[in-house]
Amino acid sequence: MFEPTVALDPRLSRPTFAEIDLDLLASNYRAVDKATRGAGMLPVLKANAYGHGLLPVARHLESLGAAGLAVAFLEEGALLREAGIRCPILVMGGIDVNQIPHFLRYDLTITASSVEKLREVDRTASAMGMTARIHLKVDTGMGRIGMRPDTAPAMFRAGLEATSVVVEGVYSHFATADRADLTQTRRQLKRFRRAVSFYLDRGLPMPKLHLANSGAILQHPDSHLDLVRPGILLFGVYPSDEVQRTVDVTPVLAWKSRVVFFKVQPAGMPVGYGAEWHPACNTRVVTVPVGYGDGYFHALSDHGRVLVGGRRRPIVGGVCMDQFMVDIGPGGEAYNGDEVVLIGRQGDESITATDLARWAGTIPYEVLTNINTRVDRRYLGAGVTS
Ligand SMILES: *Cc1c(COP(=O)(O)O)cnc(C)c1O
Repeated sequence: MFEPTVALDPRLSRPTFAEIDLDLLASNYRAVDKATRGAGMLPVLKANAYGHGLLPVARHLESLGAAGLAVAFLEEGALLREAGIRCPILVMGGIDVNQIPHFLRYDLTITASSVEKLREVDRTASAMGMTARIHLKVDTGMGRIGMRPDTAPAMFRAGLEATSVVVEGVYSHFATADRADLTQTRRQLKRFRRAVSFYLDRGLPMPKLHLANSGAILQHPDSHLDLVRPGILLFGVYPSDEVQRTVDVTPVLAWKSRVVFFKVQPAGMPVGYGAEWHPACNTRVVTVPVGYGDGYFHALSDHGRVLVGGRRRPIVGGVCMDQFMVDIGPGGEAYNGDEVVLIGRQGDESITATDLARWAGTIPYEVLTNINTRVDRRYLGAGVTS
């Protein structure tokens, strides 16, 4: 994997970083665990653990006793194994059959979403003299991968006939569990229960059942079943504005930088590409060395706010690839080197990933996963091992 960073003395590196507090991750984990008593937890760490850094987050959650971890792709699972993670790892994405031998070598749990894929896994595992761990995916209303409840029994049967596969789990995914209206969520749970009654009706042992993402953990306890799959909630961010906040969590990630330039901006003098913004009267403007090349959305141009000197200040002009400008007002005081908070707290003020999402016209998930490798991750808390 391409890592564009060089090992500089920290005092020489750019003053922009994401600070990840592993103690807060642990307290969110415990809060979710308490709210889902009776269910095991399969934290979802796809996309670099929602931007928080796959390996440090995975190590910490494993040490806290998570039942397993879930990722989207083979590569993410392989990285976890290469780093020494030993707990079960479910890869949730649809598989390419060429990848099956790698899933087996890394002891990753495969998602089978059709009869053909399941049979192909069985053949490959048998040829390699191995047994594949599998979870079967039922599509109860997400319309992404999996077999519909009416055709799923064929897949359950194929699972029973396979000789080199153990079906450890059956799962599905909610499309609207973070909405105020839970009609479809209830319907999906009902369809799921009806599909897996296949095992009950035949007196067969029931595989582990799981369905609940963050929205369902918060709003629909009936869906917690054997395992829950929280993603964004563990990172202290609620999946939507309308979701009921039945579990208290705290944002784990802060994104910080420092002022690199200060100036007095005369009335009428434009700022930024396109020269579309200029102050009506003389004001003070600072430059912050972060841009869309770091994953700070261009859509925040003239919409975003940051914290400088404990106050929310507006971004003016366009966000550039590597820098943006902030109007700190005619009397605003900020000096080169002063802290700028893009996400996080400063004094009594805070800005959340949800605020950024609202200003940029996106969802908090995209804000977090978009923070890219150019931004150094620094870890705080008792769980920091290296
Ligand atoms: C991403 C994902 C989750 C976690 O979703 P959150 O809303 O972040 O909790 C759970 N299950 C599947 C299949 C997913 O793709």
